[in-house]
Amino acid sequence: MFVNKCNCKENRLLSDGRTVCKCSANTQKMATDSFKVPAVPVSRPLQNNTKVINEAKDSSACIKPESSNKKDDKKKSWSVTDFDLGRPLGKGKFGNVYLAREKESHYVVALKVLFKSQILDSEIEHQVRREVEIQCRLRHPNILRMYGYFHDEKRIYLILEYAKHGALYKLLKERGRFDEKTAAIYIRDLTKALIYCHTKKVIHRDIKPENLLIGHNWELKIADFGWSVHSPSSRRMTLCGTLDYLSPEMIDGKPHSYAVDIWSLGVLCYELLVGLPPFDAKDTHQTYRKIRYVIIKYPEFVSEKAKDLMGKLLVINPEQRLPLAHVLQHPWILENAPEGAQPTVYTAEQQS
Ligand code: ATP
Ligand code: MG
Repeated sequence: MFVNKCNCKENRLLSDGRTVCKCSANTQKMATDSFKVPAVPVSRPLQNNTKVINEAKDSSACIKPESSNKKDDKKKSWSVTDFDLGRPLGKGKFGNVYLAREKESHYVVALKVLFKSQILDSEIEHQVRREVEIQCRLRHPNILRMYGYFHDEKRIYLILEYAKHGALYKLLKERGRFDEKTAAIYIRDLTKALIYCHTKKVIHRDIKPENLLIGHNWELKIADFGWSVHSPSSRRMTLCGTLDYLSPEMIDGKPHSYAVDIWSLGVLCYELLVGLPPFDAKDTHQTYRKIRYVIIKYPEFVSEKAKDLMGKLLVINPEQRLPLAHVLQHPWILENAPEGAQPTVYTAEQQS
């Protein structure tokens, strides 16, 4: 296994209370001015004439990055003074995320603030660059938009779409587990987003509830592209967080491709339905063994159709995993997640 040790905190605890972290263990110090900002378009995404957007109304409305007005093209890049900062939305390993509102347009966004010194200390500069390069270019209703970024002497700021209902992880912990309809809707939407990513030659590689956010209409949004890569890539990754979502080929350090996301989709399906990931165990070694030999126990309440789908996703041979397009046609998805169906978390709130 390729597990590097490091001192930084991980947001997900293992079931026995231990934590595992994915960052580089080597913490060589570098000057913050050596931090290179990714070469992505930095045009201001918010237009002068963007209407005031009430977060309660529609926080997911898209801000057009293209300006119809030539004058706007010349706009200076963003700075923190362009935003009114609101409450903290969450804490990540390398900084905090705040609710923020662009002063001119009143457009509500989430501002992720990362400290350059911490990024350099943990040697994840390339990871942040990749996150920005990839996420800025993706456009899909189930992928969190990154509108742009800017930086000052000490910090780097990522301007993100605001996901009103926060992390799926939190929602799942609150509810214990989801009913089959809600789980199927989230699996369907994640499948659609992954099909889109794969078409763009992007492998996410870190699908898990902590990296999925829930938007205004309870829709799922993939966030956190820090571990994603452009395929083909022979890049090996230092292991990420808990082993729970990693495919057999990844924990064995073998070359891996798009099918790692199909494996994670199967793991997520189980965790949404059961409340715990399928390979959860008292220690890393046991989890490793369970993944390696695909040892899964299904509680009685899981339907036969759901088991059938998970059984077709959680397959050792990556080439034999059910292709994503077929997931959308699987009887469990067709029965529980017909187009237009809303997660029951949403309908329950509406009715009350
Ligand atoms: P880690 O590497 O530990 O995952 P991170 O640095 O990637 O941390 P995030 O996961 O992006 O940090 O954010 C931390 C928390 O902030 C999330 O769990 C979520 O609750 C909240 N958050 C992040 N982005 C948004 C957003 N766009 N809208 C709403 N809440 C958000
Ligand atoms: Mg995260």
